[in-house]
Amino acid sequence: MPEAPELQAHAERLDAELAGAVLAGFRPLTFTALKTYAPDPASLVGQALRSVGRRGKYLLLDLGEATFVVHLMQGGRLKPDEKQSAKPRGGIARWTFDDGRALLLTEPGTERKAGVWVVAGDLEAQEPIAGLGPEAAELDEAALGTLLAAHPMRLHGFLRDQRILAGIGRRLANEICHRAKLSPFAGTAKLDPAQVARLSAAIRACIDESLAAERSRSEMVKSAEREGAVHHRVGEPCPVCGDAIRSVEYRAYTVAYCPTCQTGGRVLADNTTSRFLK
Ligand SMILES: [Zn+2]
Repeated sequence: MPEAPELQAHAERLDAELAGAVLAGFRPLTFTALKTYAPDPASLVGQALRSVGRRGKYLLLDLGEATFVVHLMQGGRLKPDEKQSAKPRGGIARWTFDDGRALLLTEPGTERKAGVWVVAGDLEAQEPIAGLGPEAAELDEAALGTLLAAHPMRLHGFLRDQRILAGIGRRLANEICHRAKLSPFAGTAKLDPAQVARLSAAIRACIDESLAAERSRSEMVKSAEREGAVHHRVGEPCPVCGDAIRSVEYRAYTVAYCPTCQTGGRVLADNTTSRFLK
């Protein structure tokens, strides 16, 4: 799933391309694409797209009177739609503009989880943005320390929980734990001040570096194609110490880490029910 840096860079590309375009229509292409009943998207026809932005893992198309909030889920894409075919492959929803251009939301496969919300008024007070934690990149060390203490859990899960802090997914969680030299399974409430400081710096550095890399691209790519020290590098040497990157495999994802850098040399049991993961 794309994370804050990919989505931020993508929002900036869409903003540069489409800001100012006047909405001519919005059409859901599946029954589940539009997640809200009101306001009616048709009421926004004639409004100019003020900006394309991002909050957490959501893209925000600001039409002034209301905002289209778009979630791409795992493999969804929101792209300029050159063909504008009647039945686009994987099509979820289409926006058309009065200069003839269009924007298409697609999602591969049959899961159909990507979706669009139309929200008027305070975005932060309404679904799906309500309930998101603060932006991970904007948290200072003190605020991070407060959140860690308030949510006793394993660090990797903490970093990925959008209700606690927004924008970090599986790849960044792996990279941040490695950068901070902390076990992905460290208890959040047990981190000492020096560890919290390292974590805070690692969150910022990993997001900043990823954002710089994404801004140099012309399109969103898969997470396997992004640079990283541990993510998608299991079995390869750690770029810091040379130890082999190890993993703990879950059904839906992989926690990747360096034993020497992160767990005092301990290789964690590759078993999700192990009591020894710490
Ligand atoms: Zn290492």
